[in-house]
Amino acid sequence: MAKTWKDTDISLDPIKDQTIAVIGYGIQGDAQANNMKDSGLNVIIGLKEGGNSWKKAEADGHKVMSVTDATKQADIVHILIPDMIQGQVYKDEIGPNLSEGKALSFSHAAAIYWKWIEAPSNVDLIMIAPKGPGSKVRETYLDNFGTPAIVAVEQDFSGKAWDRTLGIAKGIGSARAGLIKTEFKEEVETDWFGEQADLCGGAASMVTNAFETLVEAGYQPEIAYFEVLHELKLIVDMIQRYGINGMWRRVSETARYGGLTRGPMVMDAANKANMKKVLTMIQDGTFNSEWISEYQKNGKDAFDKYMKEYDEHQIEKVGKEMRKMMWPDSTE
Ligand code: NDP
Ligand code: MG
Ligand code: MG
Repeated sequence: MAKTWKDTDISLDPIKDQTIAVIGYGIQGDAQANNMKDSGLNVIIGLKEGGNSWKKAEADGHKVMSVTDATKQADIVHILIPDMIQGQVYKDEIGPNLSEGKALSFSHAAAIYWKWIEAPSNVDLIMIAPKGPGSKVRETYLDNFGTPAIVAVEQDFSGKAWDRTLGIAKGIGSARAGLIKTEFKEEVETDWFGEQADLCGGAASMVTNAFETLVEAGYQPEIAYFEVLHELKLIVDMIQRYGINGMWRRVSETARYGGLTRGPMVMDAANKANMKKVLTMIQDGTFNSEWISEYQKNGKDAFDKYMKEYDEHQIEKVGKEMRKMMWPDSTE
């Protein structure tokens, strides 16, 4: 059984006198910094001068400074800038200002695991990864609950790395929903696999193939859109809340029998073999090298060229109109 913690298992005392520099004030930085501040922790924000976030963080009442100054003042440097720039920002501003016994903290372990950042051996390396987007991290906190998180310590130089990890997890509210212990390697590989094979990549491709199957058979695209895309959320919500059989128990008998017998025909052994290939490409570093080299060569065009293909696809054109029906202000 995985090791877990609840809110009542953890004290903020060990970190209440430490300064936590949140580097970045974007999707996660904004939410996590505000939650920690509201929990009574000492938070400062490190940003690049002239960027859009500086004013916002100041307007929200934070102490804002350069990444260099924030690193110098901090005991814990919590790095919440986009993954692909963490290596450079670390090299220029964080690394030169780290001193013995500080902690480098992350919400995703890729930069350390793939050595985009080569951290010294005299600091703690910790991770608190909320399992939800920043908006949820803030909303659930304000509802006196939280977004569950997975936590790990890769390097415990101070001997207090777990106090720091669990303290931050409590400060951002995640411990109220539950914490699970992981390792940097496990977090990176499972996170990437999930988003590639199942959550983002798998779901988008499954929906698109189902839509094309219906439209190519002569059915109306609007009907196909409702059936295979719009309704997916209702099913996923049931699976999240009640489990797979909980979903089966809540759909019609025809859906239950049809789904139980036809699902494995569609998502068959060949499909699972392909999932294993995708996992191997993550584990052996093939995906990491490809992503780094694409990002260095093409920047955001590395994905924009694929997204343009979706823009041209009927499912997106029909979808835009359908979403206006349900959400009149929708522009996407
Ligand atoms: P964002 O893309 O939202 O980060 C943007 C922030 O980084 C902005 O405040 C931006 O400032 C700042 N920034 C950009 N460049 C620099 C720089 N050179 N120096 C200082 N600040 C800079 O990141 P996310 O919140 O999406 O991701 C942060 C981390 O959290 C990543 O490791 C990610 O994997 C992880 N994570 C993210 C989740 C999510 O919900 N998005 C979920 C779980 C983990 P400005 O506006 O001024 O340019
Ligand atoms: Mg993930
Ligand atoms: Mg991810």
